[in-house]
Amino acid sequence: MVLGDQLNPDSLALEDFDAAQDVIWMAEVRAESTHVWSHKARTALFFAAMRHFASAQHALGRRVDYWELTRSIAAGFEDLPGALTAAVQKLQPQRVIWVKPGDYRVESELRAALAALSVELVARPDRHFLVDLEAFFAWAKGRKEFRLEHFYRLFRKQLNVLMQGSKPIGGAWNFDSSNRQSFGRKGPGTLPAPLRFAPDAITQSAIADVERYFPEHPGSTASFAWPVTPEQANAALDDFVQTRLAQFGRHQDAMWSDAPWLHHALISSALNLKLLHPMRAVRAAEAAFHQGLAPLAAVEGFIRQVLGWREFVRGLYWWRMPKYLSDNALNATLPLPEFYWSGKTEMRCMQQVLEQTLTHGYAHHIQRLMVTGNFALLLGVQPQQVHAWYLAIYVDAVEWVELPNTLGMSQFADGGVIASKPYCASGKYIERMSNYCQGCRYQPELSTGSSACPFTTLYWDFLERHADRFAKHPRSALQWRARERLSSEQRSAIKAQADRLREEFCGSAQKNPG
Ligand SMILES: Cc1cc2nc3c(=O)[nH]c(=O)nc-3n(C[C@H](O)[C@H](O)[C@H](O)COP(=O)(O)OP(=O)(O)OC[C@H]3O[C@@H](n4cnc5c(N)ncnc54)[C@H](O)[C@@H]3O)c2cc1C
Ligand code: SF4
Repeated sequence: MVLGDQLNPDSLALEDFDAAQDVIWMAEVRAESTHVWSHKARTALFFAAMRHFASAQHALGRRVDYWELTRSIAAGFEDLPGALTAAVQKLQPQRVIWVKPGDYRVESELRAALAALSVELVARPDRHFLVDLEAFFAWAKGRKEFRLEHFYRLFRKQLNVLMQGSKPIGGAWNFDSSNRQSFGRKGPGTLPAPLRFAPDAITQSAIADVERYFPEHPGSTASFAWPVTPEQANAALDDFVQTRLAQFGRHQDAMWSDAPWLHHALISSALNLKLLHPMRAVRAAEAAFHQGLAPLAAVEGFIRQVLGWREFVRGLYWWRMPKYLSDNALNATLPLPEFYWSGKTEMRCMQQVLEQTLTHGYAHHIQRLMVTGNFALLLGVQPQQVHAWYLAIYVDAVEWVELPNTLGMSQFADGGVIASKPYCASGKYIERMSNYCQGCRYQPELSTGSSACPFTTLYWDFLERHADRFAKHPRSALQWRARERLSSEQRSAIKAQADRLREEFCGSAQKNPG
């Protein structure tokens, strides 16, 4: 059995494949696109990559029992457990072999279906990660705090990445001070156009099915050009290393209007579908440093994301599930504003990020964390609704990576497991890191009045609402202390304006989001 996010041809599920008796089973089912209201490009990417995988396996002379959506729907399969039950009844296998699913929900539902059928299940580990789950659990056991830096250093040493003996190359583990700059007034200048992949006949058939079966779903497939095969994924990585890696670190956090890609790698969906191995990405970046193609700060910044954050959040996901799903440390209860699905808002930063998201199914990390995520956090949106949106709307969204990033890092719903304090900021941060505020009808420095930036109003209101929790905490006290400069009149004006914003954006009479 091969799931849609396990498309590596060297998957352990296929290791001892015997063409004389074995069959590869794969299915597209409607429920995987509707359990969250999936962006059309996200579903198209899964179907296109799965169909290419099936076609490549078929070309190797292997029998593939592939259920395209039209066939699944005609047979009455609504979801994966239903489809698997029918497949087992039809094929009567001695056993089902799979690689551990990446998603808790999928794994538990499919295990229950197989148990009900009394069919033997052979579960094999997913080789497309750098750190085994057992190694993560051994590291996590007994820890009170989970900090990326500790995890990252340990596994950089163990995997011998950017090391000189037992010391990090360059004498430091972290080059954050050289990274994270804005583009300044002049902007990013001429940006290299990333390698994109025009849909071939297989991808076009996947897109056509999405348009046929999910016409009302959000987003567009018109500009679909994501890698859908291992060859394309490798080419996308090489293109990044050659043309954008050198600038990646320095401008990792910067944003600019109408420039969705900047110097980012655009490989998350290929990594998550297992079209590309993370070690290949790490070693390619490391080689670029040794060849003088990219500076150490950029290379370290990139490796920190792939070997660090990506592996770290995966471990935390499995360590904390299923409890993670219901976390809501700040007791936020408001509904997600409607405009997250349409991009129709006067806030230029939100409009830019949402429009790009609906067009491509892509936004880079700081757009997700400090624009859309920050806004939901400041407003007080229920984290489970924020999670459902992020899982639906990005082409790279799979729960093991999306959930810790959304509930943990962005919404502080896990109470500080991933981040030691909330990632919250006013409009001034967005002004510093982008040109979005130019031409916006709001002004980032204002917190009250008709031109006040909603981020800034809600930021001060957020500090006030959560002062009990954060004002005395050593990691957040400095940030919270700033509100002491506000007079009591300013504070009540901010609160009244924040209440009006919540009314306007959430359509809810509830004034206290927690
Ligand atoms: C609220 C929120 C939700 C997110 N949801 C997802 C998701 O569903 N799927 C997903 O792959 N990433 C997610 N991320 C992390 C990150 O935003 C994306 O991995 C990144 O934007 C993908 O674009 P890129 O390939 O151009 O990455 P780059 O910016 O070029 O980074 C290189 C690679 O590093 C890895 N990476 C970077 N940051 C992270 C991170 N925080 N966690 C895990 N891996 C990281 C990715 O594999 C990425 O491809 C989320 C971040 C936030 C704040
Ligand atoms: S002024 Fe505020 S709402 Fe407008 S772009 Fe800047 S941060 Fe966004």
